[in-house]
Amino acid sequence: MKLCEFIRPASLSAARDNLRELGPKGMLLAGGTALHFMQDHTPVVAVDIMRLGLSYIKPEGAFYTIGATTSLADIQRYRAPRWALHEICRRISTHQIRNISTLGGNICRVFPWADLPVVLLAMDARMVIYAGKDEEFSADEYFKTQPAKRFLGGDILTAVKVPALLAHHGFGSIKVVRTQASFAMVTIAARLELDGQNIKAARVAAGSAIPFPRRLPSVEAALVGREATAAVFQAAAAKAGADAPWRGREGMSPEYSRHLAEVTILDALERAATFARGRAE
Ligand SMILES: Cc1cc2nc3c(=O)[nH]c(=O)nc-3n(C[C@H](O)[C@H](O)[C@H](O)COP(=O)(O)OP(=O)(O)OC[C@H]3O[C@@H](n4cnc5c(N)ncnc54)[C@H](O)[C@@H]3O)c2cc1C
Repeated sequence: MKLCEFIRPASLSAARDNLRELGPKGMLLAGGTALHFMQDHTPVVAVDIMRLGLSYIKPEGAFYTIGATTSLADIQRYRAPRWALHEICRRISTHQIRNISTLGGNICRVFPWADLPVVLLAMDARMVIYAGKDEEFSADEYFKTQPAKRFLGGDILTAVKVPALLAHHGFGSIKVVRTQASFAMVTIAARLELDGQNIKAARVAAGSAIPFPRRLPSVEAALVGREATAAVFQAAAAKAGADAPWRGREGMSPEYSRHLAEVTILDALERAATFARGRAE
């Protein structure tokens, strides 16, 4: 995209009106870092939403609500007892990019390497979209296809509600990289709900080594109702091959990529179980 003009609307509804009037000649702009990856040089008018008060993190009941223009650096710095999102943000690109990239930018146009969709799928987050009025979507529904399609009509993601982890919840996210700021070879996130030693519920998601982030249902099914042991985690991780089209990228063959995913799932599950046990004590 080639940005030819900037508009700074004074309100969310004005921003949506601007986007609707401009149609394909307009583009919602948050941090603007994704322009680096958009090869198309079509001239567009940027509708800048960075000054609409959408940069915040608030504990609200069972959720942490994060405004869409909150930077990845702010999410990385935030700490709270039932919060685990900082872990992955610390691993995304460089300080400079994290200072500018926003949560919304990362999940409204999902690139294959995007890390936050993986974590939000595992966390069972909810996305709030302003479409004249607020509409809420589960992560499963929101990430069913490329979210950018949802925003073609001028709607705007305003917030993401991330469930606070309960006492018996454990969470682990792992991004495997070749060098510190590179794109992931694979990203895995897992949330476990333990009932004593047993796994009551599990959400496991993957990204980067597959075309689009997704949950891994066979892995999850192999966990639920079983004891949280290394053997169970290993058997569950071995089911990943059936769950997604693991592909060769970042110099990996598809077989290597699947193997790396299985090993990483095992690590993420161990981390989630340790997290849950540490909190229960
Ligand atoms: C060199 C480099 C390396 C990177 N490495 C990684 C990585 O390893 N992992 C990773 O996860 N990310 C990585 N990123 C960041 C990621 O690729 C995106 O660039 C970034 O998340 C986009 O955020 P932004 O705020 O700059 O969005 P923008 O560039 O402003 O917008 C991105 C897209 O989302 C739309 N959009 C933005 N906000 C909203 C909203 N609230 N509602 C509706 N639509 C919206 C825009 O219209 C645009 O289409 C990297 C970026 C760079 C430049």
